[in-house]
Amino acid sequence: MSAGGRWLSADSRGSPIRYVAKVPADSPDVFVIGAGVSGLSTALVLLEAGLSVTVYAADPPQRTTSAVAGALWGAHLVGADQRVHHWAQVTLRRFRDLCAESAAGVSELRGLVASPGMAGPDPPSFARDAGGLIRCDPADLPGGYTSGWRYTAPVVAMPAYLDYLMDLVLGEGGQFHLGQPLRDLAEALDRSAAPVIVNCTGIGARELVPDPALTAVRGQVVIAANPGLTEFFVGEGADPDQVSYIFPHGATVVLGGTHERGEASLRPDPATAARILASCAAVEPRLAGAPVLAHRVGLRPVRPQVRLEAQTLPGGRQLVHNYGHGGAGVTLSWGCARGVLAEVTGQGEYGVADFARYGGTATSTVGANPEVCGQWPPLTEPK
Ligand SMILES: Cc1cc2nc3c(=O)[nH]c(=O)nc-3n(C[C@H](O)[C@H](O)[C@H](O)COP(=O)(O)OP(=O)(O)OC[C@H]3O[C@@H](n4cnc5c(N)ncnc54)[C@H](O)[C@@H]3O)c2cc1C
Repeated sequence: MSAGGRWLSADSRGSPIRYVAKVPADSPDVFVIGAGVSGLSTALVLLEAGLSVTVYAADPPQRTTSAVAGALWGAHLVGADQRVHHWAQVTLRRFRDLCAESAAGVSELRGLVASPGMAGPDPPSFARDAGGLIRCDPADLPGGYTSGWRYTAPVVAMPAYLDYLMDLVLGEGGQFHLGQPLRDLAEALDRSAAPVIVNCTGIGARELVPDPALTAVRGQVVIAANPGLTEFFVGEGADPDQVSYIFPHGATVVLGGTHERGEASLRPDPATAARILASCAAVEPRLAGAPVLAHRVGLRPVRPQVRLEAQTLPGGRQLVHNYGHGGAGVTLSWGCARGVLAEVTGQGEYGVADFARYGGTATSTVGANPEVCGQWPPLTEPK
C-alpha cells in the first residue's frame, strides 16, 4: 500500500474494492471532485507537476462509470472538435508506455471492427489513428457482417487500471476522501479552501453544475470467464444502439453492449444481458456457455463538446471543469488531464492553453459547430 492513507474495504459485487478515507489536515493546492478515470488521471498529472491534491468523490473508483468501460482506445460517442484528436493522441502515447507495466492492465491488442453495411472507403473514425489498419477480406468476417477493418489499439482492464491509478495518486502524496455527493459547486467551495477546484464528476455534473447539456447514455456489459480470446471485436448493428463488442482481459472478457440515450437506470436488464451474450457468442462460438461473472451498467456523460475550461470565481479561486467525455473518457483521459494542468499552471504540454502550438485553433469555450464521432446524431447546443 502507498503511504498517505488507510485501505478500507467495501464491496457489493464480491470483488475487492480498495479505497482510502482520509481528510487532509492542511488545504491542498487543488481539490479534485471525482474518482473515475478523469479525476484520478487529472490528480496524478497535477501531483507529478508538484502540486498537492485532494480527491473527493461520492463513489470509489470501482463503482464509477469508468469501472464499467470495456475499454478500447478510440474517440467514440463524444462531441468532436480538434482538441479531441490531440487529447486522444496524448493518451495513446501514455497507454503505449503503460503496456510495459503489468499492474496497469493496459495491453495493445489486435482486433476487428465489422459492419453489416456496404464497405465505405474509410475505416470508422475511432479506428483511424490506431496502428496496423487493414481492410478485411469479407470471407474472414463473422456471419452477418459484410465489411470490416483489422487494427491494433490499447485495451484497458478498467478495474485493475483504476486501482493502479489510485496507487500512483497515493504514492505521489495525494489524499483521497470518500463522502456524500456534493449538492452543488458552492458546497465544494465550502468543503475545501484549495485555491483550485477541478470538477471531474462525469454524469454527476448534470446536477452538480448544473449542466442540462449532459445526456446519460446507458451502457450495459456482461463480464464472463475468458475462454482463451486474445483479440478484440467491435460489431456495429443494424440498430446503432445495439453494438456487439468483445474485449479480452486475461482471465475475463467484457461483452457488450448498449447505447441507451436518456436511460439512467443502473440496474442490469436480464433481457439485455441475454441479447449481449447471444450476439457475442454468434461472433465468437467459444463464448457460448462461458461462465458469467458479473453484470455492469454505466452512464456515459455525453455532451455536445467535452467541457474543459477554467473560470475565475469571485474572490480569485479557480474552477476548472473536466467532464462530458461521452463514450471516450478513457481515450481522452491523459490528454484532458494535461489540459487541466495547462489551465491551472499554463505549463501543460498538450493543454488548451498552448493548443495552437500543435496546429489547432480551439479555445476552451464551447464551439459553435459540434460534430459527434461514431454512430450518434449531432447533439444540440445547450440553451
Ligand atoms: C459500457 C461502457 C463502455 C465504455 N467503453 C469505453 C471505451 O471503450 N473507451 C472509452 O474511452 N470510454 C468508454 N466508455 C466511456 C467512459 O467510461 C466514460 O467516458 C468515463 O468513464 C467518464 O469518466 P469520468 O471520470 O469523467 O466519470 P465517472 O467515471 O462517472 O466518475 C465520476 C466521479 O465523480 C464522482 N461524483 C459525481 N458526482 C458527484 C458529486 N455530486 N459529489 C461528489 N462526487 C461526485 C463520482 O462518485 C465518481 O467518483 C464506456 C462507458 C460505458 C458505460
